[in-house]
Amino acid sequence: MKGGWIMTEEKWMGIGKLTEEAGEVLQLIGKLIPFPDGEHPDGKENLRDRLTMELYDLRAAIHYFMETNQLWSEEGEANYQEKLRKFNDWGLTGIKP
Ligand SMILES: [Mg+2]
Repeated sequence: MKGGWIMTEEKWMGIGKLTEEAGEVLQLIGKLIPFPDGEHPDGKENLRDRLTMELYDLRAAIHYFMETNQLWSEEGEANYQEKLRKFNDWGLTGIKP
């Protein structure tokens, strides 16, 4: 089935990939919490290394989605820069890896 009732391909190209990559990042974080050394019983590559690569996948998916759907704007860019500034000022917390 092509298309859907929520969105059209013309307006939301790449949303499936964006969702997939965001999900992969969340899945790896979910695995890292119980295996903080990154060595998962599945025996695959270290979870930290996999997370790094999935973050790049997500970054590419976000970029593609923003570019293809023409979502860039001066206001959005200003908000992005302000968020980065705040994150640096706040010194975000984390979990022990
Ligand atoms: Mg991926």
